[in-house]
Amino acid sequence: TVIQRTTVQHEVPRYISSDKDRVRVVVRVRPMSEREYDESRKPQKVLHCVNENSIIFDGGQHSRRFTFDSVFNEASTQDEVFQYCGIKRLVDMAIEGYITTCFAYGQTGSGKTHTMIGAHGASIFRMDEQYRVEHLGIVPRSINYLFQRLRDKTLQSSSPYYIRVSYCEIYNEQIRDLIRPANPDTLQVRGSIEDGFYVENLYQTYIETIDELLTILEEGELNRAMASHKLNDTSSRSHALLSIQIEQDVQESDDPNEQMTRQGKLIFVDLAGSEKVKLSHSKGKQLVETNNINKSLLTLGNYSKLVLFFIHITYMDFLGTCISALSDPSKRSGHIPYRESKLTRLLAESLGGHGITLMIACISPSRLCENESMNTLRYANRAKNIENEPVVKTDSKQNVINRLKLEVRKLKDENNQL
Ligand code: ADP
Ligand code: MG
Repeated sequence: TVIQRTTVQHEVPRYISSDKDRVRVVVRVRPMSEREYDESRKPQKVLHCVNENSIIFDGGQHSRRFTFDSVFNEASTQDEVFQYCGIKRLVDMAIEGYITTCFAYGQTGSGKTHTMIGAHGASIFRMDEQYRVEHLGIVPRSINYLFQRLRDKTLQSSSPYYIRVSYCEIYNEQIRDLIRPANPDTLQVRGSIEDGFYVENLYQTYIETIDELLTILEEGELNRAMASHKLNDTSSRSHALLSIQIEQDVQESDDPNEQMTRQGKLIFVDLAGSEKVKLSHSKGKQLVETNNINKSLLTLGNYSKLVLFFIHITYMDFLGTCISALSDPSKRSGHIPYRESKLTRLLAESLGGHGITLMIACISPSRLCENESMNTLRYANRAKNIENEPVVKTDSKQNVINRLKLEVRKLKDENNQL
């Protein structure tokens, strides 16, 4: 069952303001697991990939056809997913200065980590070369592609690119540094919608080689796995967020105030399992907080469907009631509810309507996962109607320098304290 695919040329458009870019949504169906095969009920499969764009959900009582930008079936290889999911376009756009985000979404066990990092998660990096080449996920493949592109690009361009990386995990509204796990658990989100949100004291590092970046990815994944082992598999409830910032000075000038630095970003998010969890006491409390919406935010006009959608899919466990109110058009107030969660605040740039977004929905074909798969397909289907207006992100070089100076000073202070 090899799906025939037409080769797509991924153009790198230059958006002018108010150009629209639809959220791209692809679906990947993983092979049935042994456990799922053992199930005696028949037929065992409720999902059938028809061609490169469509998938049929056949739940017995009702069947429904969905179309997406791409559909990958059980036989699709890691390389095929990488080549055809649209991630190469995101890498190219990030180099051009856009903020691009790739999300893996789906229930626990549906293949998010397999698709993003590779078969066996972090262990893939320890496999022999041949196995690795075949089974690496799209993040390491994208990193490879990024460096390949930068090598081509730098040949043509006089000013160099700088790559800055951070990697963190959000679990139960706590942020953990995956590069420096010794960093305290209480990392805070600072900033504003205007200037962007960031994680205070999150370790960020400039990297120069592909190996450095792959090492960060591997160690980050190991740190994630280790913590999840200790805390009884939190990984299914945590979001992992890898941010690769690509900076380049674009305007040469003697006056540093006039020099501009382009700051594209490539963000990969391995989302927490999308299955519903029971409302716990603490989450009930958060629900109350959520209702106490920061009034100043209400003045913002740029209502982003994507943010809403996101909160919906990642926080429906405790935001359900709020969201149903929010997604009711008659109650819409033009408010962007970034404050609701750390994840949405950190992704404000990419969710705020000016980024470029790719969602990879992962599903199991098994009847055992029927309900969750249908949910995933429904959300994925909704996401594809969301439109962004991408803009290139630039900052004055002086601002960038000032921020770096501040960081250096902080690091020095830390060193002095040691
Ligand atoms: P998630 O991150 O969504 O919880 P995983 O990526 O850990 O799920 O996948 C769960 C299991 O299914 C793993 O054992 C993984 O190796 C396997 N798996 C997932 N997707 C595929 C695939 N496309 N091909 C083969 N095995 C897969
Ligand atoms: Mg996972």
